[in-house]
Amino acid sequence: MDIILATNNAHKVEELKRMLEPLGYTLYSQKEKGISIEVEENGDTFEQNAYLKAKAIYDLTGCAALADDSGLCVDALSGAPGVHSARYAGEPCDDKKNNQKLLRAMDGVENRAAQFVSVICYIDPQGEAHYFRGECPGEVGFAEKGAGGFGYDPLFMVGEKSYAEMTGAEKDAVSHRGRAIRLLADYLR
Ligand code: IMP
Repeated sequence: MDIILATNNAHKVEELKRMLEPLGYTLYSQKEKGISIEVEENGDTFEQNAYLKAKAIYDLTGCAALADDSGLCVDALSGAPGVHSARYAGEPCDDKKNNQKLLRAMDGVENRAAQFVSVICYIDPQGEAHYFRGECPGEVGFAEKGAGGFGYDPLFMVGEKSYAEMTGAEKDAVSHRGRAIRLLADYLR
């Protein structure tokens, strides 16, 4: 079955393809389909934003569409940056500035507990929306560690390693997106 990934984020495309293609699905990025829209993410929840993105692509193409909305929820910051993770340090999105702002916000804070959250909205060929949520508990590091990945990866610690120090397979095994995708895969099977 063909599914269009409703995202312009090349890192998300890489992770989603890496986990879903071995299961026999053919995934197309927006770019591969020549779709250049950027959907306004003005929902208050991951679910609402994932739906807005998947629905826009479904309406445009009539094909099954899948969107991930994700973010880092930090306990000591009352769940921030949460749904605002991409634009935490303002527009345009800048991973480096987001990480610097997070480190400043956590300066002197003892409780480093945080959850990475991914909500996948899958709109099936009949237009029905299905939701899958994955969460990965971890901690905000004291400095950036590792060179891989994207976004907050260098600051998100799961045990001894940051996401950015993990191989793709290691990250998929524990990550918020990996958990959400496995739920989606169970549903699709
Ligand atoms: P959105 O889902 O496109 O609204 O953006 C989610 C934002 O959360 C990204 O821009 C990143 O800053 C962050 N994010 C989501 N997933 C990950 C991840 O796996 N690693 C690091 N940062 C992530």
